[in-house]
Order: sequence, then C-alpha cells, then structure tokens
Amino acid sequence: MVYVDLVRPDAPQAHARVFAQALTKARGKHEAGVEPTIWHYVPYDQLTWDHAPWTRLAPRSSGLVFVESAEKARRRPYHQQKLAFVLANQRRYALEAVERGHPIAYLASEAPVADVLRTWCTRHGALTMMQAAERELRVELGPLAREGLLTVVAHEGWLTTADLFERACGAQSPWRMDAFYREARRKSGILMERGKPVGGRFSFDGETREAWSGDPPAPKDLRHEHGEVEEEVEALVRARFGDHPGRVDLAALPTTARQAEEAWLHAERECLEHFGPYEDAMSRSSRGLFHARIAHLLNIQRLSARRVLRGALDSGAPLPSVEGFVRQVLGWREFVRHVHERTDGFRDLPGVPRADAPRRRDAGWWSLSGKPDSAPHAEPAPAALGAALPLPPAWWGRPSGLACLDRVVAGVMEDGWCHHIERLMVLANIGTLLDVDARELTDWFWCAYIDAYDWVVEPNVLGMGTFAAGECMTTKPYISGSAYIDKMGDDCATCAFKPGVDCPLTQLYWAFLARHEQRLAGNQRMLMPLRSLARRDPAKRREDARIHAVVVEVLVRGARLSPRDLATRQ
Ligand SMILES: Cc1cc2nc3c(=O)[nH]c(=O)nc-3n(C[C@H](O)[C@H](O)[C@H](O)COP(=O)(O)OP(=O)(O)OC[C@H]3O[C@@H](n4cnc5c(N)ncnc54)[C@H](O)[C@@H]3O)c2cc1C
Ligand code: SF4
Repeated sequence: MVYVDLVRPDAPQAHARVFAQALTKARGKHEAGVEPTIWHYVPYDQLTWDHAPWTRLAPRSSGLVFVESAEKARRRPYHQQKLAFVLANQRRYALEAVERGHPIAYLASEAPVADVLRTWCTRHGALTMMQAAERELRVELGPLAREGLLTVVAHEGWLTTADLFERACGAQSPWRMDAFYREARRKSGILMERGKPVGGRFSFDGETREAWSGDPPAPKDLRHEHGEVEEEVEALVRARFGDHPGRVDLAALPTTARQAEEAWLHAERECLEHFGPYEDAMSRSSRGLFHARIAHLLNIQRLSARRVLRGALDSGAPLPSVEGFVRQVLGWREFVRHVHERTDGFRDLPGVPRADAPRRRDAGWWSLSGKPDSAPHAEPAPAALGAALPLPPAWWGRPSGLACLDRVVAGVMEDGWCHHIERLMVLANIGTLLDVDARELTDWFWCAYIDAYDWVVEPNVLGMGTFAAGECMTTKPYISGSAYIDKMGDDCATCAFKPGVDCPLTQLYWAFLARHEQRLAGNQRMLMPLRSLARRDPAKRREDARIHAVVVEVLVRGARLSPRDLATRQ
C-alpha cells in the first residue's frame, strides 16, 4: 500500500506530482495489497535507518506515515533552505522506505501535523512513534497520545540517559558540561583506557585555539547531484514560501541516505585532522573551515551520532582533534538536550527572572518585509539580565557597518549556517552586548539555521550565548570586545572601524559590565573583569554608555553605523 494523499483539493499537489509518480514507480517493485500490522508516524527529524523500531521489523508488516504540513512550515519564517532541506530529505526517505518494502502513507495538508494525524487515525487506527526530540511537537501531539491514538516509545538516537545526566550533574541547576562529559566518557568507554582518559586528560580544549592564515588549505564545499524530486521541492519552496528569508540551493545539501554518508566521509577525510587547532578560527575566505557541517544531518537523524563518533575514533586524526569532536557530539550535543528537557524548555528555572510579556515569534521578519505579523507570540523567556531590545534589522541582512556582523549574517542568509564561534562570539556576543531580547535572538537562530530545533537552539542561545538563563549551564556570559574577533578572524581588515581604536565593541563590552555590574557581582568568574571596570576612569565609563546608546539607536533604526556616528553624536 502506498497511500499518497497529495491530491486533496487543499493540498499543494502542483509541487508533488514528480514525487507521487516516483512513489508509485518504486512501489511497482513490490507486491500490491500488503496490509501492515503496525503503523509508525515518522516525524521530519527521525529519518534514520540505523536506530528505530521499524528498522528491526519486517518492512512489509511495518507501515510508515509521513506528514507535510504547511502550517508547520509557516509557524515561523524559517529560512527557505531549511524548509527545502527538511522536505527533500523527508520525501527521499519515504522513497527509500518504499524501496525497502515498507507500505507508506504520505500526507500533505495545510493543517497542523496533529490534525492530519488525528484524521488518519480516525480512518485507519492508532499509530506508534518514537518520542519527538522537539518539545514543540511533543506538546502538539500530547492530546493524541493521551487519547490512545498515538503510542510513544523511547527515542533511540540519543547516546546518554537522564539518569547519567543526573548522576553527573545533579538534579538541580547549575549544570556543567564538563562533569556531564566526563561521566559520558566513563560510561561509554569512548577514548578511555583502563578507566583513564586516553592521553591523560579528558579535554584538550586549551590546545585548540589557533587563528587560520590560509595554511593548511580549507576543504572545498561539497556539492551534490540531485534529481527531479529535489527540483520539485525547490519549486515548492519558492512558490509557497518565497517570502521567507534566505534562498534555496539544494545542491549544497545531502537529501538521500547515501549523500549523508558521503558528507560525513568528506568531513572525516578533509576536516577532522585540523578540526581541533582551528575550531575557533574565523575567515572571510572559508565559511566552514574545518568544521564538519553535519549538525543538520545529525538533527534529522540522516546521520547517527553513533556513526560519526565511530568514524572519528577510527579516523587516525590527532588526539586533540578527535577528542574535540567527541566533546561536541557526546558532550555538548547530549548535554544541551538534557538541560532542555530538565527545564521544560527553560520554563522551569527557579530564581531566574522572566521577560514581562510575550514577544513576537518572527524576530521582526514579517514587519521588515512589509507584511502584517500574524505569527503567534512566543511565551516569555528567561531574562536573567533583563535584556529587552528588539532584534535590530542587521540580523536579517540590513548592513550594520560592523564588518564581522555583516559578513556572518550574509553567509547565514545564503546558507542557513555558520560555524560555532561565529554564532557565539559574533552574533550572540554582539546581541548580548546590546541587550537584545534573548527570546527574539533565539527565534532568529531558530528560523535562520538549517540545524535549529528547540531542544538545541534554546539551550545554545538562552543558556550559553546570551546568559538569559543565568548560571544554569554556563559559569559566566560569553562576551568580548574587538580583541577576540581581531585575533581569531580577518574581518577587521575590511571594516570601517579599527579594533582597539574606534571599534565600538570594546566600549559596548565595558558598558555591558557597567549596566549589569550588580547582577554579576556574586559571580566568581566575573571578579577580574569587574575589578578592571572599577578601575576604569569615570569619564571613559560615561563615554562607554554614550557609545552604547548611539549604537543601539542606529542599529534599531536599521541604519548603517559609521565612525562619524560615534564621533559626533551626543
Ligand atoms: C548561539 C548558538 C546557537 C546554536 N544553535 C544551534 C542549533 O540551532 N543547532 C545545532 O545543532 N547547534 C547549534 N549550536 C551549536 C553549534 O554551533 C553547531 O552545532 C555547529 O556550529 C554546527 O556545525 P558543524 O556541524 O560543522 O559542527 P562542528 O563544529 O563540526 O561540531 C560537530 C558537531 O558537534 C555538535 N555540537 C557542537 N557544539 C554543539 C553545541 N553547543 N550544542 C549542540 N551540539 C553541538 C553538532 O552536532 C555538530 O555537528 C549553536 C551554538 C551557538 C553558540
Ligand atoms: S573592527 Fe570591530 S566591528 Fe569591525 S570587524 Fe573588527 S571587531 Fe567587528
């Protein structure tokens, strides 16, 4: 049975014909009239052939249900590349499923996922699914589960358990990644020898902080050959979601299981050796440097975390690089997901103040594009520092005059991706120094990145990038002036500002410390910077506050900042 419900009057049939034909053709290889004994709902982010109940059952008895929901795609102004990536992978996965002999039902609708599944269950009976990684989907499907229409079983893609997290970090925040990572290494035996870490240390973090001068050469970006299925998805996204940010270029991304594997092998061969030393480097001449560029594949389960860890461990790359990579995948990735679950998506954070009102959920995109903002509002988020500035248009591509920010944003608008240090030390750092509302910044990341889902983007922005969740998962705010960006990257050479001379970031840094001095006073890791602040000349502190006010005024207006603005405005 291939049940393709793409031809209902309200369904986007114009952009599903090639796909429907491909499904029917693939089905021709298998016997018709098969009725499965169990139906699984496969969400858009569980596209795995490695670890799921249906991969262990006889395909003919195990039916798979997929949903394409226009409501879900419209819920936020998601980057066009992200929509295309998810839709193309889901369609390709459905085709792979039919090739393997699974009966499938592929449902496309304007309605929310839960409504589509409810209608299906009413006609065909109950479904089973692996627990959704996204809280938002868990909440949406909760009523179906409570009514017995949906049986939820454990998600098999995670590497660590809630028990391990609690044993390592305790039941209550603050939680620290280092403790979690050590316990995860001990429990898994990864990079362990007779109970001790290989190389004598759990982390080689301190040794991996080099700027990149162009040597060794950075790998070329991988391009993929696609077919009509992808062309149809590209056309669909342009026609129906062309008013979303970004652009579509599916050749840049894998859509099949084979291409996902090729992407990993490319990373293993070309990137891993130099991953450690250049993990923090930034460059105008290479967007990805030696980063693996696989988070989007891991987060929809096209690649499994087990598979890439095995690959990294067998790669023969130097230990600091392998350990650095293991720390990201076994450490940070698992840690943030536990923090998200523990805090109910940062709703349960005792002692951390929250924003006083709900915020727009589109981070300002619809009003900037001249459309009424019909997106529902986001719930108030934690706001440990009380930051409440609306996200400036610069994050949507309006030139700010700050070369580092403008280059990184331009890349994100093209690819829906940039690497970790640019996210942390450019985008989140500058937003935090300005006091941008953390919910809006989070929603921007959620919309703009091909790898963003609530369980990973919220901890990284609310918990790490902005300090909105206080000391919950980091010891101190990740902030810096121009010195760090100048040392680790090459943007300053092209900027109208000069680092250490008239670049406003350093004064924004001091102004930030002054505004939040009281809140940060009890934090041991902030003692040194606050002592330096106390020694800062009062006239300089007044100038810091003035610069902050000018930068905020210019950027919120959507204008481009110039050295003249800082010199002349009073
Ligand atoms: C402000 C901010 C927002 C972020 N938003 C996201 C997001 O929406 N989705 C996302 O997957 N990652 C997010 N990250 C984490 C990290 O930046 C990306 O996972 C990484 O840049 C993806 O590129 P890559 O695959 O080349 O990763 P690499 O640098 O090659 O690292 C390898 C893998 O480790 C994992 N990893 C590394 N750091 C983290 C982390 N902090 N949290 C979770 N996984 C991690 C990823 O799966 C990644 O693919 C964010 C980080 C910051 C500072
Ligand atoms: S001078 Fe300042 S604003 Fe310009 S690129 Fe360097 S750090 Fe960024």
